[in-house]
Amino acid sequence: MDRRKFLQSSSLVTAAVSFNQFEFSPTSKSLSFHVGFLSDTHVKPTDIAEEGMRKAFRHVNQLDTKVDFIINGGDSIMDALKASKEKVQKQWDVWNKVLSEENKLPIHHCIGNHDAWGWQMNDAEVKNDPLYDKKWVLQEHKMTSPFYSFVHKNWKFIVLDSAHENNGGYIARIDEEQIIWLENELKSTDNSKHICIVSHIPIVSFCSAMFADKNEPNGDWKISRALLHVDSRRLIDLFKQYQNIVCCLSGHIHLQDSVEYFGIQYYCNGAVSGDWWNGPFKGFAPAYALFEFFNDGKVKRQIINYA
Ligand SMILES: [Zn+2]
Repeated sequence: MDRRKFLQSSSLVTAAVSFNQFEFSPTSKSLSFHVGFLSDTHVKPTDIAEEGMRKAFRHVNQLDTKVDFIINGGDSIMDALKASKEKVQKQWDVWNKVLSEENKLPIHHCIGNHDAWGWQMNDAEVKNDPLYDKKWVLQEHKMTSPFYSFVHKNWKFIVLDSAHENNGGYIARIDEEQIIWLENELKSTDNSKHICIVSHIPIVSFCSAMFADKNEPNGDWKISRALLHVDSRRLIDLFKQYQNIVCCLSGHIHLQDSVEYFGIQYYCNGAVSGDWWNGPFKGFAPAYALFEFFNDGKVKRQIINYA
């Protein structure tokens, strides 16, 4: 037997043995699990948006691949930044109706800028309303905090709260309370656990630069504070201390990319709504992402053009 043949047959034996081990060991039965990342659904009370959301959630629920859970990447509704109370409630009503009718999978929510109420309204009554800011979205998603973490198998998922009110607009960053929480969260995670970080707005991304149609007249790229975390440098330095951070997932831009930076894979995952329910956005069709997370810390992404 030549060396190459020997290697082939010995690896077959190893594969068969380990397959049997996994068959018999209930704890290591699956080598990986799947997660659907559905972001920027931007649902509103119109037939196109409601049907589109239905189609996307029905699609991920009916995949041949077993999906363990869904991450909602944020911007569930079209917009609460400058919409009346009545209009915001109507959007949440559609979101909750479609979700209860089409989704049977566990779902973890991340908050998007358009989910926050009243930031773009100059109305003292709105600012003093108990539902102002993120209180309404927290209530709709039944969340107790805008940032949190959870563990699934040997992975930890850390969900951040990216968007904050900023002079009547918003800025992408995490605040001081959240950075202290994040530092503790990373410190206290056993390094045998692989970590995936979720933020509505990307921390590292090339598509943030592609959102505008043109560069500045002098050629500079144009990236608004609302399109890329302004505290990326600080976060990247923090992430460098933890070898077990594997990937960061985001939405918001409605475009898709995959950027590796200092050993971490940053995935921006398009939008369920595409061009806010007007077809593809800059060439990217309405989509969601299907992730496969492996026991050994690898991760794979597949984009699903569900429509
Ligand atoms: Zn957004």
